[in-house]
Amino acid sequence: MKALAVFPQEKKIRLIDHPLPTLSSPTDIKLRMLRVGVCGTDREIWNFEYGEPPPGSDYLITGHESLGQVAEVGSAVRDIAVGDLVVPTVRRGCPEKCLSCANQQPDFCFTGHFTERGIKKAHGYMTEFVVDDQMYMNKIPTSLREVAVLLEPLTISEKALLQIETIQSRLHWECRIGEGPDDKSCRNALVLGAGPVGLLAAMAFRSRHMRVAVVARSPQPNAKADIVEKIGARYYSSEQTPIADLARDMGNIDVLFEATGAAKVAYDVMPYLGANGIFVFTSVPAPHKDITIDAGTMMRNMVLKNQVIVGTVNAPKAAFQNGIADLQTFQKQWPSVLTSMITERISIDDIEAAVADRGKNEIKTLLTIASDQPH
Ligand code: BGC
Repeated sequence: MKALAVFPQEKKIRLIDHPLPTLSSPTDIKLRMLRVGVCGTDREIWNFEYGEPPPGSDYLITGHESLGQVAEVGSAVRDIAVGDLVVPTVRRGCPEKCLSCANQQPDFCFTGHFTERGIKKAHGYMTEFVVDDQMYMNKIPTSLREVAVLLEPLTISEKALLQIETIQSRLHWECRIGEGPDDKSCRNALVLGAGPVGLLAAMAFRSRHMRVAVVARSPQPNAKADIVEKIGARYYSSEQTPIADLARDMGNIDVLFEATGAAKVAYDVMPYLGANGIFVFTSVPAPHKDITIDAGTMMRNMVLKNQVIVGTVNAPKAAFQNGIADLQTFQKQWPSVLTSMITERISIDDIEAAVADRGKNEIKTLLTIASDQPH
């Protein structure tokens, strides 16, 4: 079967012929992959800066934001049937079965020996068929078939929300998000970056009654700013508005959500985090010593303002389940906004186009592999 693979040693990307996977346990499911999203992590892997092939393989099949349709189920599979639409999770637990992995939370793996399909030591989803255990499958309602590839990037925010809720349970109840109207304090979120992760995070915060601003580079008008405004958030261009002015407009910044991939941007904005605020880091930038920071002020602020900086990597099954519910909410609240995030569809056969940089108008590019069969 066809697969899009990266060969890190040779620094090549190729459409290869890979052996068809077969069911190896009664709880296995075989998926026919329909479409796979392209994200910043894929581009880093295609630039040979990140990612690792499975042991013994000189290539890694890329792709982790997917939608598949069930083609075959093992004899012990329950609740999922041939024809169902499914989004599989990405992380798989470590061989040592550390406490987190043994409890189905490989996102909190202690040993670091976890694998990630399409990223770290496990083949991904840019291929025709995939086999995996039923425990990793998330069944998708057919009403979400056009936008379900956005579930995996949304789980970044869903995991972050689980973390934010846990951390802010330290505060007065009015600060708990998702409850009540948005006229309370403690509900200001600033999202850094208007790529798919930033936009989906903005939607998740808005649908939980938060006041949301999104800051990105491009001046208005642009398609990303349009989406931000459609969901009732405010868009700021960092080229037009200095961050200090934006922070003054916003008031106490309770949540800073970083989705730019640039460490410098995150640390430049850090002084504006409000009292009792949380700064959520979601990107995985390449190691690079490009800034000098005022560590004294940063530490003083953290102590005097009870600030928390939290890194979060996705995602447990709960984040996928919450994400499915949220995608349905977003579709109801803002019809057509999710579909407008899909800016291009490219066939997996057109590998040159698939891996080419799509420029700043790209929101989400999809690789199309097969069309879904009616069931
Ligand atoms: C993926 C996650 C993964 C992370 C780190 C992100 O792009 O969405 O599933 O854990 O990269 O590798």
